[in-house]
Amino acid sequence: TMAKKAPAPSSANPLPGVKNIIAVVSGKGGVGKSTVAANLALALSASGATIGLMDADIYGPSMPMMFGLRGERPMMKEDESGKGKIIPIEKYGLKIMSIGFLVDEKQAVVWRGPMASSAIKQFVTDVEWGELDILVIDMPPGTGDIHLTLLQTIPLTGVVIVTTPQDVALADAKKGIAMFGQAQVNVPILGIVENMAYFTPAELPDNKYYIFGKDGGKNLASEYDVNLLGQIPIVQAIREGGDKGVPVVAGDDEITKAAFRDLAGKT
Ligand code: ADP
Ligand code: MG
Repeated sequence: TMAKKAPAPSSANPLPGVKNIIAVVSGKGGVGKSTVAANLALALSASGATIGLMDADIYGPSMPMMFGLRGERPMMKEDESGKGKIIPIEKYGLKIMSIGFLVDEKQAVVWRGPMASSAIKQFVTDVEWGELDILVIDMPPGTGDIHLTLLQTIPLTGVVIVTTPQDVALADAKKGIAMFGQAQVNVPILGIVENMAYFTPAELPDNKYYIFGKDGGKNLASEYDVNLLGQIPIVQAIREGGDKGVPVVAGDDEITKAAFRDLAGKT
């Protein structure tokens, strides 16, 4: 059940073939934004939709590693007007683009805001996304230049906020909500994902340990009157999947797959 498309921020829509654009955001880093973005994209794809995944974290790209695509380089082609276009790399049925496909992974991207902004603009205008039902964007942490650039460049359908139940993460998540909910921007908040919500040891399947606190994301959702899309537990397979290059939704951990399928259904 997709929300309606927000009005275009500027004159021409640079992505006419893309029906919906969802940004996955958080205030704080390390809360599982990239993990949620990757698995949400895969779960949406599994439901039959054509999905692209843009890694907008210019300073800390995660997708090459998460999808086992380290060291891969995208192909180029020329469009009808002779303009060079970057072809996204396909994995598990997703079209993926990341700065990690363009720069050496041992090199740090040390760019001032305008450089990062222009790179992200190129991810919109110079990448051959083609026809997509949904483009999922993994945003960098915080509320900075890249966020503003994307807000000004493309019509976002909505944002998914990722937080852990911990107070520091919730405080930053509120800033994310504020940024996108502000009147002059006003992109709909599709909902909140509470990640790392609890831990259940294999030998104690009926126990839940609230390591980062209990229901922080759920309470945030009711405080701001937005949907709670899901409470994802801390699962070793999720962490391993990210490191191995096989996100859980592309793997065979059925319980975790179901959690992300449910999340995709609510998004
Ligand atoms: P962010 O993009 O917000 O910085 P990541 O998605 O990179 O966060 O996640 C940070 C780390 O936590 C990664 O090592 C990831 O594998 C791990 N992680 C994320 N969510 C979970 C989870 N639900 N269970 C276990 N590990 C997780
Ligand atoms: Mg990330």
